[in-house]
Order: sequence, then C-alpha cells, then structure tokens
Amino acid sequence: EPGLHLVATPIGNLKDISFRALSTLAAADAVAAEDTRVTKTLLAHYGISTPLVAYHEHNAQVMRPHLIARLEAGAALALVSDAGTPLISDPGYRLVAEALERGIKVTSVPGPSAVLAALVVAGLPTDRFFFEGFLPSKSGARRARLAELARIPGTLVFFESPRRIAETLEDCAAVLGSREAAIARELTKLYESVRRGRLDALAAALREEEPPRGEIVLLIAPPGAGAEEASEAELDAQLEAALADH
Ligand code: SAM
Repeated sequence: EPGLHLVATPIGNLKDISFRALSTLAAADAVAAEDTRVTKTLLAHYGISTPLVAYHEHNAQVMRPHLIARLEAGAALALVSDAGTPLISDPGYRLVAEALERGIKVTSVPGPSAVLAALVVAGLPTDRFFFEGFLPSKSGARRARLAELARIPGTLVFFESPRRIAETLEDCAAVLGSREAAIARELTKLYESVRRGRLDALAAALREEEPPRGEIVLLIAPPGAGAEEASEAELDAQLEAALADH
C-alpha cells in the first residue's frame, strides 16, 4: 500500500516481530533505516530482500525531500530504526510531520518498544507514566531537568547508557529523594534483568560495582507512591504548590 509505514522491530529477541511488520517490510518499495547494516541483518533473517536506504540524524536533511518525493509519486516506504519503535528517541518525527502536511498516508505497524517493555516489568505504577528519553549527560543540566520532573504524578521512564547509570542514579536520589526505582537491562535478550530498589540504595550499590553492560531503561516511582522521605526539591515544590493554592 502506498504511504509511509512506521514499523516497529525487535529490541533484542528477533522473534518479537509481527506478521504485519514482516509483510509490510516485504511489500514496501524501500525500507528507510537508521543503520542499513543492522536492518539488513534483520531482513535477511526473514528472507526479505526489499532495498534499503539510510535515514539517520546526519543525512536526514538531504534524504527527507527524496523520501517525500517518492511518497508523493505513490511509493510504499517503511521506516524502521535499529531497534524498537521508530520516532521514540529515534529519527522520523520530521519525516512524519512533513508527510502529513502533504497529505501522504502514514500508518503505524506497532510492536516492541523498550519503554513499555520496561514499564510493565518494573513493578511500579503503570496507570500514568512520563517518558523522558535520555537525560542530559552533564550532572548540572541533569539535576535541573530532574527538578522539573519532580512533581509529575506518574512513573518516570528514562533511557540511560550503562556508563552513566551510576552518576544518574546519584543525581536522581539527590533531587527526587528515596523513591522506589527499577533498572531494566537487556530486555528480551539472554541476560535480561530487572533490579528493583530505592534510588539511594541502587545508587550506593552501583557506586561500588563495575559499570553494567548492555542497554538500560531506568524507571522511578511517582512522588508519594511509597514511604519515601521527600527530597529538598520536593519539599520546595510542595510548599510552592500549597502557597499557589491560596
Ligand atoms: N526506539 C527504541 C524503542 O522504541 O525501544 C529506543 C531507541 S533509543 C536510541 C535506545 C535506548 O533504548 C537504549 O539506550 C536503551 O536505553 C533502550 N533500550 C533499547 N533496547 C533495550 C533493551 N533490550 N533493554 C533495555 N533497554 C533497551
């Protein structure tokens, strides 16, 4: 079918791909992929030989008009990222916005995303959550961002790199207080693990350990969900809220 198809791909376990994802990839005129080598391996695994084109941060400006032109000429294009759902901390948002502006049909072929895979195994509230993606890499900016998120009444979901997770936990404990948290690592893969505990305890443990390996999602309980001691930032926020109510 002509149009732009946003196709979710596995986040580790190659079996996590839908029948519809496979048939969409097979039927497309081309698959736009973040890293064509990664996607080539996936397509080869399923015997799919659709041509690949690279679409990533560094060539998006140049490639977007080409892809739009093909779509306007009636092509069926699939967009995938290296793993999970495209556009979620991955390229594609501008392409989708531009396609929609030009009346091109955009469809979602849903499937895995590390966000929901982690949320549902974390053991933290799932009724409301806030996906932040990657926090800033410098501690000052990271703490400032965390302070902005401190009052959000839902589970916080972050992507984090293994080399930064220890410092990030320190900052989270300092700004958010001793909330319940979970570190979901290597989901759907051989060494999948979920570590649960309070932010300060997790921070103290990781300080002593070798940096973990693999891919990580960090999840933090909403304020007031447990018997945590409120951090200074939270007390300030609560005071401000109380004063604003009067
Ligand atoms: N679009 C992707 C999705 O929907 O899952 C996310 C892309 S983002 C660039 C990559 C980050 O997702 C990793 O740094 C890690 O935080 C998280 N991630 C991806 N796969 C994961 C897995 N199998 N287990 C845990 N976290 C994962």
